[in-house]
Amino acid sequence: MKLNSNYDNIQNSYLFVEIANRVKKYTAANPAADIIKLGIGDVTRPLAPCVVEAGVKAVQEMGDAATFRGYSPDSQGYDFLRDAISRYYASFNVKVSAHEIHVSDGAKSDCGNIVDMFADDNTVLIPDPVYPVYLDSNVMSGRKVIFCDATEKDDFAPLPDKNVKCDVIYLCSPNNPTGSAFSYDKLKAWVDYANSMGAVIIFDAAYEAFVTDPSVPRSIFAVEGARYCAVELCSFSKTAGFTGTRCGYTVVPDELCGGKFAKMWARRQSTKYNGTSYIQQCMAQAAYSQEGIRQCKENISAYQKNANLISDALTDMGIYHTGGKNSPYIWLKCGMNSWDFFDKLLTQANVVGTPGSGFGKNGEWFFRLTAFNTYEKTAQAIERIKKIL
Ligand code: PLP
Repeated sequence: MKLNSNYDNIQNSYLFVEIANRVKKYTAANPAADIIKLGIGDVTRPLAPCVVEAGVKAVQEMGDAATFRGYSPDSQGYDFLRDAISRYYASFNVKVSAHEIHVSDGAKSDCGNIVDMFADDNTVLIPDPVYPVYLDSNVMSGRKVIFCDATEKDDFAPLPDKNVKCDVIYLCSPNNPTGSAFSYDKLKAWVDYANSMGAVIIFDAAYEAFVTDPSVPRSIFAVEGARYCAVELCSFSKTAGFTGTRCGYTVVPDELCGGKFAKMWARRQSTKYNGTSYIQQCMAQAAYSQEGIRQCKENISAYQKNANLISDALTDMGIYHTGGKNSPYIWLKCGMNSWDFFDKLLTQANVVGTPGSGFGKNGEWFFRLTAFNTYEKTAQAIERIKKIL
């Protein structure tokens, strides 16, 4: 037996371990320090009441012989949820049919699994800085990866370089870690680029619910031509606080590869995945009911208020940053080695964030703050940061 040697090529993911170590060391030496965490990449507010109610009802159904359910009839998801997701898209004027929606246990799984669709000799284009899963999942399967620089020059929302040839493109908007989001025109440039050479865009829309700017599409399928070149990954994690509940979905349009992509994805999923639990799907359906959207929006608005607070304070301080407006992430120019800035913030302000260099070479000199703490803690952190910058 030979192990998959591609795993030897994955860079150790030491970012969050190193952060935890540095915080631990500092608090051991300074036990009285009141640390505020603005590095959290996870939601903190509880599930919406109607989601909890739907979950309780679903559990009770599972405990009654008359309504008990085993394997779902279709690993693609129950019709009731796929219909609700299709209506959700329609609420922002994007047409996605229920049969094009494939329900899963989250966007990370789909992101890791979608690489099964591509030949080993495809070239993959990934922006830098980047959500690490895109890179690692392709390195694991031994594919050639090339990078597209995202920098201050393009506000971290780069345009394609027509001279670069590739087969698979990863885009994330609103972006983790930079919080930047593609305007319609920029996304259209990517769609045209992909269509011109028969490439596929894997579009990660995990943060679409944070979009407030009407010029920013919440789905790549709002863009003309995208149905011929794109797959969209989405999730209830950040929209409805499902990071610990788990539910996501991938949209594969009929037009992609003349329908072959959708057939292959359905085949892959039915072979390797036995479906998302009925309980999770009932909870997800509740999140996309009219009342659910209203209740989930209250949580998102609370995070948005924190994001605006950070972004406005940085603007007042004259610090260049992206995000904070269509995103829970704020990506600021720290103007020094990003680990040195981490130490400065930790030791002088007792605030923890995430060094940009952990997301790629273009993240050096940048730093990520997040909006997932409470308003009070966020405001306190900002006051402390103002004093030291
Ligand atoms: N995509 C991006 C860009 C993310 O930041 C995350 C989670 O942080 C995910 C996908 C994963 O989402 P899920 O919780 O649905 O697996």
